[in-house]
Amino acid sequence: MARKQCAYCGEFVGENVKQCPNCREAIPDRVEIRKGPAAGGTEIRRGLLYMLLGATLYYFASPGSPLPIPFPVPPVVTRYLLPLLFLSGLGFALFGGLRRIGLF
Ligand SMILES: [Zn+2]
Repeated sequence: MARKQCAYCGEFVGENVKQCPNCREAIPDRVEIRKGPAAGGTEIRRGLLYMLLGATLYYFASPGSPLPIPFPVPPVVTRYLLPLLFLSGLGFALFGGLRRIGLF
């Protein structure tokens, strides 16, 4: 016979009992355990956002862009910083994916 445990006093009671015979507390029929969001979702979203930001800024700031930014951008930004931002976002998203499948 299936038995369940009273959440208040710990007494084991029958499956169909509505009230604990020991402490007189009501026993709900089903206790739902809600899981939190899956691990790694925050890192994946943040990484994808960084990648999008890096690619968008690179598109507009690079020389020869069809929609150039109306102020000069130092070449170090388009040559090193924006690719670094994109690759950092890629790494962050991969880290989140590895966390989601349980490797971290
Ligand atoms: Zn009880």
